[in-house]
Amino acid sequence: MTTAKFFVPGPTWVRPEILQEMTRPMIAHRSAEFGELFVRVVTNLKPLFGTTQDTFVAACSGTGILEAALTNCVPRRVLVTTCGAFAERWLAIGQTLGLEVDQLNAGWGNAVDPERLADHLTSRRTHYDAVTLTHNETSTGVTNDVATLARVVHEESPNTLVLVDAVSSLGGIPVQFDEWGLDVCLASVQKGMALPPGITVFAVSARALEQCRKRPYRGTYLDFLNYKKHADEGNVPSTPSIPHFYALARQLDDIIKIETLDARYQRHKAMRDTTIRRTAAYAELAADPDYASATVSALVPNRAPDELRAEMKKRGFTLGGGYGKWKATTLRIGHMGDIQLDDLNAMLDALEEVASA
Ligand code: PLP
Repeated sequence: MTTAKFFVPGPTWVRPEILQEMTRPMIAHRSAEFGELFVRVVTNLKPLFGTTQDTFVAACSGTGILEAALTNCVPRRVLVTTCGAFAERWLAIGQTLGLEVDQLNAGWGNAVDPERLADHLTSRRTHYDAVTLTHNETSTGVTNDVATLARVVHEESPNTLVLVDAVSSLGGIPVQFDEWGLDVCLASVQKGMALPPGITVFAVSARALEQCRKRPYRGTYLDFLNYKKHADEGNVPSTPSIPHFYALARQLDDIIKIETLDARYQRHKAMRDTTIRRTAAYAELAADPDYASATVSALVPNRAPDELRAEMKKRGFTLGGGYGKWKATTLRIGHMGDIQLDDLNAMLDALEEVASA
């Protein structure tokens, strides 16, 4: 079996057999063959999202569906919860779209506090059309407690939609779309799903689709109602990335039937715990340890992060750099997707040597 030496928190290492799937001959996307492939994919996405509602695939990176979620579902006001660079992306998009955007900022490295969210929702007299949550903040390595945060929104503001970025959690950290009462949840596939980048998978609740029906302008390419109309007919609105459909179909089969979701989540937790334990002598975890992510660790090492990364590169290992305002001070280890504990341990052996040199 090939060993992974690529530990960037997305895109992550891709198994050769998945890359192979992408070289299959083309089929027409209006053919019965593609229809079967489409149904297989959207059906197998449901257990991954923990939903019986609609799941979709779009040919864009995750940012496309962040924007589409706001365009499709938010007529006016949105509350954006932030705790790092990617959560802040919702903010920038909302402002660009001309929405009234409020921010609840937990600060980098922290998780969003459900009590502060409840206070915010009760103390404002304004109605929010939606609240955005970022399940796993990739810039800081923090996993938010989406189950509790979503429950707070439902209790304090029952008509507010819950829009969730699960870009670096889906496939590595459990997502329970129906149980948690989410309305839109999206993930690009180059992280916990371990596919090459280029498509985004997403789930949309019946309640969110109702909201979409009231919107006169939902965009064209990423109009959720158009996705729904075509999905009901077993297809997609425009030419899909067929190689990605092949790869995703294979990956979902492997995740669900061979590895199983529970084993996959346990493997990710074990990779997080191993990373924290084995780097403790020479690096501090940048995130609140109670919310440390199972898919990515942001570390403040005892040597300049860029020097460490350069030394690791000489040994054949690629690590992630810091992101945004933590760029110079942190390095990020992506331990997600199809990376195995043995791969991680081999990398951590080398990192230990480099850090103590
Ligand atoms: N959200 C999170 C949590 C991410 O980690 C990223 C990318 O790293 C994005 C959003 C943006 O996703 P994409 O690059 O697929 O547009």
